[in-house]
Amino acid sequence: MIYLDCAATSLQKPASVRYAVSDAMRTMSSPGRGGYESAMAAAGMVLDCRTALADMFCVSAPERVIFTSSATHGLNIAINSLVKPGDRVVISGYEHNAVWRPLYGRGADIRVAASQLFRPEAAMDAFRRLLPGANAAICCQVSNVFGYILPLEEIAALCRRAGVPLIVDAAQAAGSVGLDFDGLGCAFAAMPGHKGLLGPQGTGVLLCREEQPRPLLYGGTGSVSESVEMPDFLPDRLEPGTHNVPGIAGLLAGLEWLGRRTPAAVLAHERELAAAFCDILSGSDKIRLFRAADPSCQAGVVSLQIKGVDCEEAAERLAARGIAVRAGLHCAPLAHQTAGTLRAGTVRFSFSPFNTFSEVRYAAEQVLSLGV
Ligand code: PMP
Repeated sequence: MIYLDCAATSLQKPASVRYAVSDAMRTMSSPGRGGYESAMAAAGMVLDCRTALADMFCVSAPERVIFTSSATHGLNIAINSLVKPGDRVVISGYEHNAVWRPLYGRGADIRVAASQLFRPEAAMDAFRRLLPGANAAICCQVSNVFGYILPLEEIAALCRRAGVPLIVDAAQAAGSVGLDFDGLGCAFAAMPGHKGLLGPQGTGVLLCREEQPRPLLYGGTGSVSESVEMPDFLPDRLEPGTHNVPGIAGLLAGLEWLGRRTPAAVLAHERELAAAFCDILSGSDKIRLFRAADPSCQAGVVSLQIKGVDCEEAAERLAARGIAVRAGLHCAPLAHQTAGTLRAGTVRFSFSPFNTFSEVRYAAEQVLSLGV
């Protein structure tokens, strides 16, 4: 199978990730719950992973790196902490349901800073217009549907100037597009461990600026157990319950692999694959490609439509030829609404550090053959 659905999860991982998971299951118990060898081994590994994440995302204190079960979990903590019912929240036109639904569920007054695809200036203008009077803002760094890299630095600067706390959804960016969390002054940034960071499913990360966010889950932390209240310090305040130790061990191995290859090299490789894929398809009048004129606006994700072929049917026919892609709305109806593709959806191809040029050429040829 040629796996081109890395925007859902990265199926291909470094072998060291698998070994780390199984080694942790053999040798590590619960961190922070004992002074014996297996508990200390778990505690050391969890701290190493927290520190590696703090280094990668420019967070000055590793305690402000929280382990979650997914990006969705982290976004729910951030939204629950910052947003009260009735609060006005400005979001980009490219947000995932992991942002839209929790905001709706919380009763927020949601204002969409909608702007045309691959038009960073327009995105800044839309935020500039809506930010005055807002209680919070949320912006994805990269659209999971179109690979559009939003102008996060500029949007963060607008938020700082307007005094509006910003939550970053780094789900599609982490591992390839860099994030200077402290430098941008964001309130929170959430990301999965299981996509570009190459960890196992069931892992996620939340970066926090403030010391005392509001917990989403309450329970035992192995610290200040005499108190009925959650600890007032991080990471314990947001990490009740037993950690996903095998998952975090796998995530650490993924981060180490990425550190050697570097996120910048991963981004360059994924962009070259995307360019090779688009170059083959761009000559066909049957294919509508969503490709940025300025390549610096797009990461390694490409959406397309094939004239006369329903997108779900196209994905099924590609699956029958051994190509794994995702069709439809990609849990991001808002992004499709903004881009004008809500009715038909798109077929999405997302590339990873492990994909090769021959895989991508084969996939493009198969797409061409569907359109005739
Ligand atoms: N936000 C974006 C932009 C995403 O692409 C995804 C995953 N598809 C999520 C949030 C949710 O991530 P998770 O599945 O780890 O909860």
